[in-house]
Amino acid sequence: MSLRPTVDFLLYDWLDAPALSGRERFADHSRETFDAVLDTCERIAREKYAPFNRVVDTQEPHFDGEKVILPQATHDAQKAYAESGMLSAAQDYEVGGMQLPYTVEAAANAFFAMASVSIGSGMLTTGNANLLMVHGTEAQKNVFALNEFSGRFSGTMCLSEPQAGSSLSDVTTRAVPDGAGFESDPLGPRYRLKGNKMWISAGEHELTENIIHLVLAKIPDENGKLVPGTRGISLFIVPKKIVNPAGELTGERNDVALAGLNHKCGWRGTTNTLLNFGEGKYPVQGEAGAVGYLVGQAGKGLHCMFHMMNEARIGVGMAATMLGMAGYLASLDYAKNRPQGRPMGPAGKDPAQPPVRIIEHADVKRMLLAQKAYCEGALALELYCARLVDEQHTADAATADDARLLLEVLTPIAKSWPSEWCLEANSLAIQIHGGYGYTRDFPVEQYWRDNRLNMIHEGTHGIQAMDLLGRKVLMEGGKGLSLLAGRINETIQRAIHVPELAAHANALGQALAQVGAATKAAWATGEPTDALANAVPYLQAFGHTVLAWIWLDVALAAHAAPESNARTGRLAAMRFFFHYELPKIGAWLQVVSSRDQTCAALPEEAF
Ligand SMILES: Cc1cc2nc3c(=O)[nH]c(=O)nc-3n(C[C@H](O)[C@H](O)[C@H](O)COP(=O)(O)OP(=O)(O)OC[C@H]3O[C@@H](n4cnc5c(N)ncnc54)[C@H](O)[C@@H]3O)c2cc1C
Repeated sequence: MSLRPTVDFLLYDWLDAPALSGRERFADHSRETFDAVLDTCERIAREKYAPFNRVVDTQEPHFDGEKVILPQATHDAQKAYAESGMLSAAQDYEVGGMQLPYTVEAAANAFFAMASVSIGSGMLTTGNANLLMVHGTEAQKNVFALNEFSGRFSGTMCLSEPQAGSSLSDVTTRAVPDGAGFESDPLGPRYRLKGNKMWISAGEHELTENIIHLVLAKIPDENGKLVPGTRGISLFIVPKKIVNPAGELTGERNDVALAGLNHKCGWRGTTNTLLNFGEGKYPVQGEAGAVGYLVGQAGKGLHCMFHMMNEARIGVGMAATMLGMAGYLASLDYAKNRPQGRPMGPAGKDPAQPPVRIIEHADVKRMLLAQKAYCEGALALELYCARLVDEQHTADAATADDARLLLEVLTPIAKSWPSEWCLEANSLAIQIHGGYGYTRDFPVEQYWRDNRLNMIHEGTHGIQAMDLLGRKVLMEGGKGLSLLAGRINETIQRAIHVPELAAHANALGQALAQVGAATKAAWATGEPTDALANAVPYLQAFGHTVLAWIWLDVALAAHAAPESNARTGRLAAMRFFFHYELPKIGAWLQVVSSRDQTCAALPEEAF
């Protein structure tokens, strides 16, 4: 069983991706060029990534005192990825890109996430370089971004610190002007940075000639004090090795030192590091302090960083989805081959009969259909969001603005929903394998360990929930929420006329009304402490409603297709979602609407 037919169906039968070639930017593209990209990525993922997924898990990165050592397979896989041109797929032709729609780029990258998420397919490097293409100077684009797109350099994002994770306003990394004339450096205003950055993915390795760190730091005021809050945060390019304005390495190391590698539960193929900036281990021109170049305006660092974080959040959602999908396909294969137990018959189980394969048991089918509903639904959501990114960049002004607002509301769901439910899918995949699933002889435990990260990084579940209920559904007078409700109602209107889908259309209408009422009730007192006490149950209910909408919309496309096993499966996954999952929102929204304080009000001593 392969992922490709699902991707093709979603891209071509549901999202009509080839219609994008009607836009000037994508005029040279067609289904043929999209297929060629998908074919190449599928092949590289199959040959260079999938066979080594266990290798990168067991051969964790290690530091030999000088260098971080990674398996040869990681070097080979990343080289093949860079050579495919995927790092710059979305860029203009004139800088060597393919002007590929993001919808197709995201679909193509899904193959790598499924084959080996932690070998990585350059999400951080592309995100880092994309940010510089928007906020950097011409020199910063040429020297840093273009060398990242070519695969010569790689990128990181350095936000978190040991004492500042969710609360980035508390970062204490300092950046001070680097001597007289600091403003006239050709690579941008030059500063010296000192501080520690924790959890930095791909922060140290020998995979590329250089590593370009994008670092959040504060510039002290005239009294040497750091400006409190996020307003004081600026963004800096800090290369591991110093480069000249022609992009050549000068031979001098920048003052960025590896303080240690973190030993993770999963996702072990990517290094994770504590980095010390400016401690003096590698003085630059005899002086301690990491050399960094300001990106954009001072004090606007978080704004610039959000450019990278929004893309990264869709990427995280896609990674979670594809880990779920990998577990689904592995457990489907296992269930088709594992004989165990006998069928329930009118006369009870007959021990004289041969055992059946476990896929014949209703409960195993339930676990398979749950995984299919979670993972294919999540894939559809991620591709829908990717399509909105293309709308935002290439549609007429009004459509583009709608896409922007819809993305604001949907991004917390795109990041969080697969992180929770495709992780649950991985748990079900282990369950289907029984005891074997709990061993390292089968791949499913690794998928679960790899996936467990996704509810933590790029904004934890709790932080995403507060972003949704505390900001996104309220922003611009609630316009984003109204727009989303409008899209959901359009789907309901189409489905209500299809007898097989009409009941589901009604159920979705009721769910939408419940979410709307709960949003109002949560904010009825206007007190964030009341409204946000149950932000996570709100996120869960909102996410399930969005997924029910996505499934109903996908079901409309499936319904219109000729009879096939795939069509039967898609319609069944939609029904599963409506029968087994959507009713859960009642319990979640109950505590939201009543502003239940059971958790929030409990004194610490009572735990
Ligand atoms: C493997 C891995 C890779 C990572 N890669 C990177 C990277 O490349 N770059 C980078 O900058 N960072 C990276 N991170 C850091 C990641 O983004 C943080 O771990 C995350 O933001 C949470 O911060 P924290 O770990 O300090 O937890 P905390 O912020 O201490 O949170 C702990 C718990 O408290 C909850 N909590 C915190 N504040 C609130 C609040 N106000 N209200 C309600 N609940 C709250 C959280 O939801 C969470 O459940 C990575 C982390 C990991 C584990």
